[in-house]
Amino acid sequence: MEKRRTFIKSAGLTAGAIAISGWIPGCSENTINTKKWNEMPLSLRFKPFELKLKHVFTIATNSRTTTPDILTELEWNGVIGYGEASLPPYLKETQESVSQFLSKVDVSKFINPFLMEDIQDYVDGLSEGDYAAKASFDIALHDLVGKLIGQPWHKIWGLNPEKTPVTCFTIGIDTPEVVKEKVKEAEEFKILKVKLGRDTDREMVETIRSVTGVPICADANQGWTDRQMALEMCHWLKEKGVVFIEQPLPKTAKEDLAWLTQNSPLPIIGDEGVQTLEDVVPASQIYSGINIKLMKCGGLRAARKMITLARALNMKVMIGCMTETSCAIAAAAQLSPLVDWADLDGNLLISNDLFDGTKVTDGKITLNDRPGIGIIPL
Ligand code: MG
Repeated sequence: MEKRRTFIKSAGLTAGAIAISGWIPGCSENTINTKKWNEMPLSLRFKPFELKLKHVFTIATNSRTTTPDILTELEWNGVIGYGEASLPPYLKETQESVSQFLSKVDVSKFINPFLMEDIQDYVDGLSEGDYAAKASFDIALHDLVGKLIGQPWHKIWGLNPEKTPVTCFTIGIDTPEVVKEKVKEAEEFKILKVKLGRDTDREMVETIRSVTGVPICADANQGWTDRQMALEMCHWLKEKGVVFIEQPLPKTAKEDLAWLTQNSPLPIIGDEGVQTLEDVVPASQIYSGINIKLMKCGGLRAARKMITLARALNMKVMIGCMTETSCAIAAAAQLSPLVDWADLDGNLLISNDLFDGTKVTDGKITLNDRPGIGIIPL
């Protein structure tokens, strides 16, 4: 009886192995991960890093040349998953707060990284906020587990890499000469993002239009205050080939935003006004769509839930970023086949990237076949 059970078990495994190597396109025996892992605790490391920006970056609320960052590494059985927290100064989190949070994370009690839900429930439960800190852990865990499985996350999730959207390239507020220069640098991109919210808005758009006819998405970063003026701008921007506008009014002006969404010829996308999963249902009463960022929501696990919920509420979805290395960008890109628009150019805005990751080909995100989030350290 025992022998028969063993036989059935091994026969089943063999049959499964033949089916996998024989029938799934792109899957050979070499890609089947049969490695036996040792039971051992996970280990987490982190260190501060400063992202250097290629251009002085100006949006409606501030200007800067660097962005503070924390790099994380999660290791198990000699395999390392990479993550990061990008910390632009207008958000609450700092290198200190992220370091403090990560110091509290005791992953040594976990000996099986595949129990991702349990591990992330523990990490998310350690505090109320700290979303960028949590994202730096979430990204490293996804990278690690994807590497252990031997597949990229877009494949594990069953997404079609052909369905990645075009990604926009951001043009910061600047003098017409610099704006023209930036637009020329961005020749490869099929959609540009323009930062508005100052008295130079029309000049910015006209300057871009004097150099190129590609579609534009606009982001006012809460820079407009009057809803009637915002509606007039939306009509004018539509005539200029703008496809949507992000956060035109302050996030607290909910009634005015809802009014604008009802009357605007352009979709109104919430960014500053939509941070986490809990914000999605209320946002459906205010905006046409949401801009999801890993640093705002706590990582890939939360971002995926937000996409599902937003779709159920019939909303548009874009995935955005901060200035980041290719680590967090490549992580977000794994989800990009699920969204309408991607704004994943943060790695292209820095001069000291640490990873080789997602490429942009003809303006479109190209996912690679590397396991995990698809990066290798430079
Ligand atoms: Mg924005």
